[in-house]
Amino acid sequence: MMNLPLVFRGDHASFVVVGGGNIAQRKIRTLLQANCPLQVVAPELPHDLQQQILNSPQANWQARLADESLDFADAGFVVLATDNGELNQALATKARSEGRKVCRVDQTTDNDFIFPAVIDRSPVLVAVSTSGGSPALTRYLKERLEAFLPLEYADLGNLMQSLRERIKQKLPAKERAAFWRRWIHSNVPELVISRQPERAEALSEALIAGSEETCGEAYLVGAGPGDPDLLTFRALRLIQSADVVYYDRLVNPRILEFISPDAEKFYVGKAKSDHAVPQEGINQLLVKSAQQGKRVLRLKGGDPFIFGRGGEEIEELAEAGVPFQVVPGITAASGCASYSGIPLTHRDHAQSVRFVTGHLKDGTCNLPWHELIHPHQTLVIYMGLTGIPVICQQLMDHDMAADTPIALIEKGTLPDQKVHISTIADMPAYVAEHTLQAPTLTVIGSVVSLHEKLAWKS
Ligand code: SAH
Repeated sequence: MMNLPLVFRGDHASFVVVGGGNIAQRKIRTLLQANCPLQVVAPELPHDLQQQILNSPQANWQARLADESLDFADAGFVVLATDNGELNQALATKARSEGRKVCRVDQTTDNDFIFPAVIDRSPVLVAVSTSGGSPALTRYLKERLEAFLPLEYADLGNLMQSLRERIKQKLPAKERAAFWRRWIHSNVPELVISRQPERAEALSEALIAGSEETCGEAYLVGAGPGDPDLLTFRALRLIQSADVVYYDRLVNPRILEFISPDAEKFYVGKAKSDHAVPQEGINQLLVKSAQQGKRVLRLKGGDPFIFGRGGEEIEELAEAGVPFQVVPGITAASGCASYSGIPLTHRDHAQSVRFVTGHLKDGTCNLPWHELIHPHQTLVIYMGLTGIPVICQQLMDHDMAADTPIALIEKGTLPDQKVHISTIADMPAYVAEHTLQAPTLTVIGSVVSLHEKLAWKS
């Protein structure tokens, strides 16, 4: 390591910033935020920054061009950001001869210190630096980390800070590290991040008293239609923190790789007419595992509240008094529509969209056919693949035009997605001749004609 990251107390680090351009302004804002004693020497500054400096008792602005006679007063750190390289050089030499540390923003090879990019969840700070070598990489890393660190990490940091003194008094030094490890791996951080402060505090108190709550928590999480990139941040966080996972067939195995290696994983089926565990069994399993104090993840394809029986599962959890969270996922209709270039609504084609299930019992289907036939409505049919002949025939019998376009989207959002386009008159024969694999979603309506123009995935 050639560089040394340190965290300074802002009010103990006094700065002079020379220059008022964009880069200087960014540094000034950072230093103001950290309450650093600050002197700015610049002929001009944007109005809002002037105001901020005026409102900060520890900061002042000299509105003038700097020259070589500049007096750095008692500042320990000097940021040189004028557009005059020679002046920067001369001021750097002077500042150093007076024992100050210098950052010149016009070059990267001769700095005593540089500013890292900061993800600010104060009191939690994450700093990223590529040692001045690749600002674009620094920004890229910062953006990625920003997305993975919810704002509530600030609350978590504050809570831990507020407990420190008590823990110090209660536990001998050699037990503290183990306590904090247990605490940070408990459900407290998740409760803080999902903004349940009372429960977080109760569990934290129980951990301190050594009488941990007996009941865990259940998470009903939508894993989206397949592409792991379509998971929500919250889904990913809960997948990574679960102690036990019950997942069904539609969940992409690549998503299961995010589960902690220490967690127990159970496949609870859901292939049509092959329920590895009957629904009542699943509901009871969730309740039982949570009551054992575990963090239980019920991972479902798409969105748990759209043809996912999510409602039934949490009903039992609610009845049993098990705390739970529900995390929405991208439903197959949205995922398949986007990845096949078929907008579900469009001002020229459809003002409404209807999601129905085409799951047939004994080859019959009791859908409200009359309601489904609407000139400006898109019809999305989940679980309809085997019923295609019946569905298309019924729609035509109820006066839907035989040339109405229909799309079957096979394995939507996955690398081997296939889109099959036809009309409701011809699709039954097409399906009979081709082998289509589940899961497949059916979209019917004039929006399907847009696929030709808007398809962006092969
Ligand atoms: N809760 C899920 C739907 C479960 S019903 C959701 O919100 O998406 C299962 C049906 O969803 C399948 O029969 C199929 O019609 C559809 N489906 C789910 N994932 C799909 C995918 N990746 N591609 C195409 N259809 C999919």
